[in-house]
Amino acid sequence: MSIGMSAAWKAKQPKQKRCDRCELYTPKPDDKCIHCSELNESQVAQLKAQHQETLQDNSTFGKYLLFGSVIIGLLLLLSFL
Ligand SMILES: [Zn+2]
Repeated sequence: MSIGMSAAWKAKQPKQKRCDRCELYTPKPDDKCIHCSELNESQVAQLKAQHQETLQDNSTFGKYLLFGSVIIGLLLLLSFL
């Protein structure tokens, strides 16, 4: 059930492309970007800066996740000894 459902869910997702101006993913970058079409240049720059911060947050979170899984792996290993 879950495989069929996730396939249907994926089929429903619009194909996203990256906007050249704000570097965010948008359903129709060729038409009007949903993120930056209403913004002026300085607002777009601000948006890009915020986006960069988000990316950095995500990579920090990824490191914590990796660290956590290493600890769990070590604990599992110790429990077998
Ligand atoms: Zn854009």
